[in-house]
Amino acid sequence: MIASAQASVLVVEDEDALATLLQYNLDKEGYSVRVAMDGEEALMLADESAPDLVLLDWMLPKVSGVEVCRRLRARPATRNTPIIMLTARGEEGDRIRGLDTGADDYVVKPFSMVELTARVRAVLRRIRPGLADDQLNHGDIVVDRVAHRVKRQGKDIHLGPTEFKLLDHLMQHPGRVFSREQLLNAVWGSDVYVEARTVDAHIGRLRKALMSHGGEDPIRTVRSAGYSLDMDG
Ligand code: CA
Repeated sequence: MIASAQASVLVVEDEDALATLLQYNLDKEGYSVRVAMDGEEALMLADESAPDLVLLDWMLPKVSGVEVCRRLRARPATRNTPIIMLTARGEEGDRIRGLDTGADDYVVKPFSMVELTARVRAVLRRIRPGLADDQLNHGDIVVDRVAHRVKRQGKDIHLGPTEFKLLDHLMQHPGRVFSREQLLNAVWGSDVYVEARTVDAHIGRLRKALMSHGGEDPIRTVRSAGYSLDMDG
């Protein structure tokens, strides 16, 4: 429903049935999922838009899992993207056990979907705390990302979908200054044309809503740079 609040997972798996099963289960968990059937497609999709996490099969046609891993690590956009390798029993050599492939974790096939999704959650929580949480807190603001509700000082704050996405993004990185362009990409997506001043209008609405029951303005305007959520917690 609120796409940008979801973590995006890139599944790289050449076994059709497993790819479908992974897509179904991760989708059910609330992740936005893309599937690549070989290494080449994986690199292309990652290039189009950097995923928050990659599930990467070890044995792949065209470009091997290890090579995909290496190339993702060599690109600035995916240098720090968590990668979980999927490996068949017996395939996991010293190399993958020691994770000197550049992967963050590995799962041995066959695995249960419960185990896999738990591992995905754990890796996301460790690496990007904001993404895996059901609830975000900053100062007196609480965002319930499951129910899509926002409270400030215990009182309900009513937000439109765009304002919700904006707040969700800012709450993931309190104190960090985002340019209008960065907010556009995070909230509207990079493939949509939206004017920069549209961001200002939505920030204005978000501010007004957040202060509807009183309280200080939690959003700081940084001249010619952008906006940040800035509040003495
Ligand atoms: Ca395979």
